Amino acid sequence: AKTLRLDKLLSNMGYGTRKEIKSVVKKGWVLVNQQVVKDSSQHVDPSQDKIMVNGEELVYREYIYVMMNKPQGVISASFDPRVKTVVDLLPDEYQVYEPFPIGRLDKDTEGLLLLSNDGKLSHELLSPKKHIPKTYFAMIDGNVDEKDVALFSEGVVLEDGYKTLPGQLRILKSGEQSEIELTIYEGKFHQVKRMFLAVGKTVTYLKRISMGNLKLDESLELGDFRELTAEELEILR
Ligand code: URA
Repeated sequence: AKTLRLDKLLSNMGYGTRKEIKSVVKKGWVLVNQQVVKDSSQHVDPSQDKIMVNGEELVYREYIYVMMNKPQGVISASFDPRVKTVVDLLPDEYQVYEPFPIGRLDKDTEGLLLLSNDGKLSHELLSPKKHIPKTYFAMIDGNVDEKDVALFSEGVVLEDGYKTLPGQLRILKSGEQSEIELTIYEGKFHQVKRMFLAVGKTVTYLKRISMGNLKLDESLELGDFRELTAEELEILR
């Protein structure tokens, strides 16, 4: 089991600064497994230990599931010494759960990204064998037409020789600048951008709008997030 310092846990969960927590603990207001603790540096296992603060039991869950509308300019990683990550966008009370992004969006891609600490769900959603559909909205430099729809429905050969699985392309707006939705069933590096490059066109804006049965909550502003509802979690599994 994973343990961490009591003061770190409580401050991560929003109970105050470490200094404030130290004084609360000193006063005997914090119980671990029915015992008063006086040392806030004591290690606890929040998934096993029953922790009471001021008579209230600490609500600690094993798993968290967060939907984010990823903005441009942040990378889909947990930690990076130079660049802001999607996990950095979550407040402290989530950090105690050690969330990570389920899958990746490019730095300049926006939209639906799941963050969780559930390795099993992550594995299931990302397994190449499962072919979980992912739908993107994109703006394209170039005139997307029915020929592209047909090509994508067969699978296109990327510049490295890989032939993609069939994808469903829907044209929302055609012209010199086109707007489309594309559903793909795999997740190769830069896949959407490379599929369009394979037909001589450039993606100028990309946003993921769904993953499996889960849709991006369009009321989330860029950079905002919320926990999944029980129903959303259900349909995702
Ligand atoms: N395809 C891309 O090219 N980029 C993404 O971020 C996601 C899919």
